[in-house]
Amino acid sequence: MFKDEILDILVCIKCKGKLIKNEDNLECHSCKIYYPIVDSIPRMVEEAIKPLNDE
Ligand SMILES: [Zn+2]
Repeated sequence: MFKDEILDILVCIKCKGKLIKNEDNLECHSCKIYYPIVDSIPRMVEEAIKPLNDE
């Protein structure tokens, strides 16, 4: 797992908002999307963005 301090510098590329770390993704609740974490590295690119499913 990557260090939590990285969350202080990582922001959502869409809204520049704060991200919330989950098991294996970083969520942006404002945009209702998440960025997958692959090999401990968050994929902070448009192509990697997936929609968040609230249930
Ligand atoms: Zn966002």
